[in-house]
Amino acid sequence: MKEKIKVVQNLLAEKGLYSGAIDGVFGPATLAGLNQVPGMNQNLPQVRKVTTMIQIGAREKGFNSGEIDGMWGPQTQFAFEELVYLQKFGKVRDPWRPEEITPMNRWPKQNTAAFHEFYGLRAQNLVTVPVPYEMKIAWDMRYRARKITCHTKVAGSLIRVLENVKNIYGESEIDRLALNRFGGCFNNRLMRGGTQWSTHSWGIALDFDPARNQLTWGRNQAAFAHPVYNDWWRCWEEEGWVSLGRRRNYDWMHVQAAEV
Ligand SMILES: [Zn+2]
Repeated sequence: MKEKIKVVQNLLAEKGLYSGAIDGVFGPATLAGLNQVPGMNQNLPQVRKVTTMIQIGAREKGFNSGEIDGMWGPQTQFAFEELVYLQKFGKVRDPWRPEEITPMNRWPKQNTAAFHEFYGLRAQNLVTVPVPYEMKIAWDMRYRARKITCHTKVAGSLIRVLENVKNIYGESEIDRLALNRFGGCFNNRLMRGGTQWSTHSWGIALDFDPARNQLTWGRNQAAFAHPVYNDWWRCWEEEGWVSLGRRRNYDWMHVQAAEV
């Protein structure tokens, strides 16, 4: 709630309706400011006034906040996150959607002749490379890894991705957002729930934070579907890696150097 109040205080201050501290504390000055906002329903409970202000403020900035009804829902949540970003960085967040990114690489499509020609046999052409930040082994967090075994043809790209992630988020955010919860790369096995070989068998797929991004979960449940991970996905997608979550809305833990 504190962050919402801060956003509201900033919005009110921009309108000249609040001159107190941006401290996230809902005091009389914040309430007085809210009550002066044109269109504010004076009879709403305070929490809905806060939501209404966020919806009005978002709409004024060009974000689609849905109906201005003082009710918090997914569209308001989206608009709120856009507002937080705007207030923090002074610019609108780039619309990082997979279809709007032009990747540097195009990886071959899985289960095609081109794929097999490019990557060769399963469990061959592997290399173990040092990674830019320490990974925690997701299934047993006491264990750490500073190296990943992958296909030689994806190693350079993988390191570039992780270096970009480190530059953008920094190590403490990487840890807080569980971007270092490593669920594995090379693993010579069939697809879970399938009869074809998993792209893990060539060492061209990685899983991250499997506990919070379970195989059958969609974007309403998967942690990595949250907008805070947009930069994470951008790093992968700029290198042409494919997220099944972003493309197909399942298996959000998984990213691979193969088209689907
Ligand atoms: Zn996977």
